[in-house]
Amino acid sequence: MDSEVNQLSVLIVDDDEAMRHSIRRVLELDGYQVKVAGSGQEMLGQDDLDEHFAILLDRKLPDGDAGDLIVGLKERAPHSAILIVTGHADMDSTLAAIRDGADDYLIKPVEPDSLRKRLASLAELYNVRRELLASESRMRFLVENLPAGAVFVDDDALFINRTVEHLTGYQACEIGTLQDWFRVLCPDRFEECLDKYRHVQANNFKQACLFPIVRKDGIRRELRIAAHRYDHNEVWLVTDVTELQDAERRMVQAERLAAIGQMVTGLAHESRNALQRARGCLDLLELDLHERPEQLNLTSRIRRALGDLQRNYEEVRQYAAPITLDLAPVDLNVVLQASLDDLNATFDQSDVKLKMERRGEDAIRVDVHRIGQVFRNILENAIAADRESPQISVVLEQHVENGLKWLRCGIADRGAGMDQETQARVFEPFYTTKQSGTGLGMPICKRIIEAHRGQIQVSSELGVGTCVRIDLPIQDD
Ligand code: ADP
Ligand code: MG
Repeated sequence: MDSEVNQLSVLIVDDDEAMRHSIRRVLELDGYQVKVAGSGQEMLGQDDLDEHFAILLDRKLPDGDAGDLIVGLKERAPHSAILIVTGHADMDSTLAAIRDGADDYLIKPVEPDSLRKRLASLAELYNVRRELLASESRMRFLVENLPAGAVFVDDDALFINRTVEHLTGYQACEIGTLQDWFRVLCPDRFEECLDKYRHVQANNFKQACLFPIVRKDGIRRELRIAAHRYDHNEVWLVTDVTELQDAERRMVQAERLAAIGQMVTGLAHESRNALQRARGCLDLLELDLHERPEQLNLTSRIRRALGDLQRNYEEVRQYAAPITLDLAPVDLNVVLQASLDDLNATFDQSDVKLKMERRGEDAIRVDVHRIGQVFRNILENAIAADRESPQISVVLEQHVENGLKWLRCGIADRGAGMDQETQARVFEPFYTTKQSGTGLGMPICKRIIEAHRGQIQVSSELGVGTCVRIDLPIQDD
């Protein structure tokens, strides 16, 4: 006997002790584990009935007939083979028991050899079945817990695994059919998505396709489905490609920006000369017009417009140019003050009230030129938000988050504030509410701060003011 059979256990249920004993000896010699019971009640009293691969059940027991016991026994031991041990005279009731679920019968007196053969073939069947069940449950476990989204489609019925539940936020019972899948996940584009699916299905899923979905929590995601079909069944591999799509979009944008940057740099260079020439001509013109204030007003407007044009070129160039940092330890207060002085000189605005508060050490390693650019952009916006009497307060303080030291710089104004849309779009390139704005000031700040591995956030309230918060990591070196 091989080792697998060695572990198999058989239950003998017979009220005849001699009979139990002789069968037991035969089976134990063959390596089976044997248990016995003398009555139907004793048998049903055991709580490991399903552990036996075979149960030899005497047709006639003092407390019941095999026919009376079989249905209850089958329920308790659905995987065990039940063999009725019977005499020639009782064939009718034996056959009835077989109809009720018994697997086979043995005629008394039990022939050791035929008993052994019968049990050996049942043991083989039992082992094959057990292996099949184990491999089925391994398969189910694999699909259920696969760290990739898997869907099984059987005609119209649909089974989703745990990862798909996680990806969509829905439970398997909420998406039970193909129709459910598209109705639940693509509520606003149901017909279109179902058509798309039918189309790739008709093409034997040669290509994977993308479906925009709405998760149960309302968040929109993009799923990629690669499928395989056989007969009436399909398996889908479902991947959430939202981030990948975003990254691709960002990459395309970065490439486009680089191209724009190159073009604008050339253009700005050429234009600078042209602008200089235009300014030179304006100087000469103004000399001739010094007694005609109306015309002088026009020339100064032309001058301002030329200035705006140059600034626009400069901002687009700065935004699109790749950022390389030249880090050095600096005191941010000094950089802030210098940025404000710069602005005052440029805009001829010396009545900006700047209140600075420092809490702790403010020296940090940054690219002083780039950070100066950030401060200029933020201060310029703050001044623009309150032309009458800009009041700006700056707080610099250190804090620790996730075990890292950060320097936080909060720049708050008491200007007009932003509405919700502006607040949501403030870092979007070219978004501006100003007549001569480029909408690049804040996106430039974001690029520079992120290049320093920092973060920038804006909070604002209409009519109250705006606060821009910058967090820069402090490296101890
Ligand atoms: P621009 O200044 O050229 O418009 P920005 O990127 O600097 O571009 O700013 C984008 C928009 O954000 C501005 O047009 C303005 O509506 C809003 N904004 C930025 N900073 C402030 C602020 N401190 N107060 C009010 N609105 C602001
Ligand atoms: Mg600006």
